[in-house]
Amino acid sequence: MTTIFGKIIKGELPAEKVFENERILVIKDIHPKAPVHLLIIPKKEIADIQSMQAEDLPILQDVVTVTQQLAKEFGIEKGYRLLTNNGSDAGQTVFHLHFHLIGGRPLSHLGLG
Ligand code: AMP
Repeated sequence: MTTIFGKIIKGELPAEKVFENERILVIKDIHPKAPVHLLIIPKKEIADIQSMQAEDLPILQDVVTVTQQLAKEFGIEKGYRLLTNNGSDAGQTVFHLHFHLIGGRPLSHLGLG
């Protein structure tokens, strides 16, 4: 099922794009939790980490490369958080694989619970 991110990738919904190549789209989160809050979205329709197949694993290399590049571009390379929520129990709300790149303010220790 196509999600909001699927529609943004296809150009059917607007978004504030900050980076795009054949495999990855990066947009600004509509409800930012920090001065820098980007969503790194692999274009392939994969619901979450748990649904990834072995053939999808190179996507993670792309995600790391794009993260490093954007962290420098946005001036947060000394401290940022890169995270993904896997499944509704973890708070995932859009079921198209994506990684939050968050920074630009002191980030507290990641709480559990
Ligand atoms: P998650 O809860 O991990 O699935 O993250 C989904 C994220 O997508 C949330 O941080 C939302 O604020 C963000 N979001 C939802 N719709 C849009 C949109 N149309 N444009 C940008 N970000 C969005």
